[in-house]
Amino acid sequence: MTTCDFTALNHAGLNLHAILNLDQLPAEMAAKLRSRFDPAGRYRQLILLGHGGKTLWAALKASAISSDNPIDDFSRRSAEQWFAAQFPATAHEIVYPGTIPVGLQALGKIAGWHHASPFMVGIHQDWGTWYAYRVVMLAATDLPTSTPRHSESPCARCADKPCVASCPAGALDDGRFTLEKCLAYRRQPSSRCKTTCIARITCPVGSAHRYSDEQIAHSYSISLRDIERRR
Ligand code: SF4
Ligand code: SF4
Repeated sequence: MTTCDFTALNHAGLNLHAILNLDQLPAEMAAKLRSRFDPAGRYRQLILLGHGGKTLWAALKASAISSDNPIDDFSRRSAEQWFAAQFPATAHEIVYPGTIPVGLQALGKIAGWHHASPFMVGIHQDWGTWYAYRVVMLAATDLPTSTPRHSESPCARCADKPCVASCPAGALDDGRFTLEKCLAYRRQPSSRCKTTCIARITCPVGSAHRYSDEQIAHSYSISLRDIERRR
């Protein structure tokens, strides 16, 4: 069985890795992936890459990449370079970032990364909410598969749930997330959530890994722009 070295990915900040056999995924998920991306059945494995913490943004800035979508483009480029160095001439295809949904949170649950938080951003036992899915690749590889590290949600052990009280829109009240309240508040001219999420900042889990203010502002500016476009 082939092995691989994740060092180059780690240096790029793509420090979360999961190797999954397509045959071991839930049947419906595997069938969707095959019908959308691999009708010829060329690929045996799915490689899920994520970033946790601050390293990806620092590596991206150091690369001086110029792009309208710097995180996606830097992640895609780093993954392609890593794969080409590790497995030359091996068939593969990056299916995320892309235009067709691939079920990132479902993959994150299988990998043992994802728990739901009150504000619907995934929470990880180590990284808190300061992680994200960056690349999904299908590949004709034969790598050792990952052993998921399943654990109780950090939220289950969080008695006070400070994120709930901190949301200025009350969007987390009553034990559920009300998207409309969040969106309406974020659109207000005086909103404190134009370029951040106060609830996310308030969560103590993984706070040492919180993104830089610049990265947080980058991501939330994009989501606010999308919200404004949907008006
Ligand atoms: S503050 Fe507590 S309940 Fe809220 S996301 Fe963090 S761990 Fe979960
Ligand atoms: S972005 Fe602001 S309004 Fe929306 S959930 Fe987070 S804290 Fe609440």
